[in-house]
Amino acid sequence: MPKRPPVVFYVNWNACIKCGACIGVCPHEAGFTTPFDTIAVDTPCDIACMACEKICPVTAITSRLATEAEIAAMS
Ligand code: SF4
Repeated sequence: MPKRPPVVFYVNWNACIKCGACIGVCPHEAGFTTPFDTIAVDTPCDIACMACEKICPVTAITSRLATEAEIAAMS
């Protein structure tokens, strides 16, 4: 199965109710979070399972494909 391209998440802070569901479902190691207890928004996600987007009860999470520069900075 081909690897999915890395994505960068965006959280609508006005909509987020800080329920922690996105962190709970995230398969990343601990630390892939923001100071606001959501999944990271400043670090490309190389798993891209999109489970956080799907579980968010207020659809506060959206994503875009990571840029080449962002991907290069990951390694
Ligand atoms: S799942 Fe959605 S509402 Fe809950 S903490 Fe994450 S971004 Fe906020």
